[in-house]
Amino acid sequence: MADKVKIGTMWLGGCSGCHLSIADFHESLIDVMEFADFEFSPVLMDTKYDEVPELDIIIVEGGIRNDENRELAEMLNKKAKMVIAYGTCSCYGGIPGLGNLWTVEELEQEAYINSVSTVNPEGIIPNEDVPHLESRVRPLSESMDIDLIIPGCPPRSDVVAEAILTLLRGDTIELPNTNLCEV
Ligand code: SF4
Repeated sequence: MADKVKIGTMWLGGCSGCHLSIADFHESLIDVMEFADFEFSPVLMDTKYDEVPELDIIIVEGGIRNDENRELAEMLNKKAKMVIAYGTCSCYGGIPGLGNLWTVEELEQEAYINSVSTVNPEGIIPNEDVPHLESRVRPLSESMDIDLIIPGCPPRSDVVAEAILTLLRGDTIELPNTNLCEV
């Protein structure tokens, strides 16, 4: 039997909802695992980001919102032979891209000071211990060489499972023209 394809998944500037679509593969996951092994995933296993192995395919959720997203995207671009931009945030910026309507200073002010759920009487805005927001949200193609995009918010599990299986079988993927979103 041929060596199995090594797959990884990663989340960057998103909400992790796209990873739930992968968790919803249900029985299709067994079909996928006939051809492939998951070697890295922040959801499926406890591998540290600096221990990511060489991969055949990386499936990436989320765009580039902060400097950590960019560093991880650039690292994964070297580790993986094929990159799938997975979900609308990854392909186009998505909902986090709405942040582009405000400056970084305005966003930090809202998140750390003004938000009704924030208790921060000293008005501290952390700047040392958290990743720094970049000036704009950018799609993944800013930092990675993209081979395939699968939009949707999140993408439908059945569509993604079928697309991954088709890819693993070496056939041509055809995504539906409409209704790529799970809900
Ligand atoms: Fe979340 Fe939708 Fe972005 Fe996926 S595309 S990370 S579900 S906001």
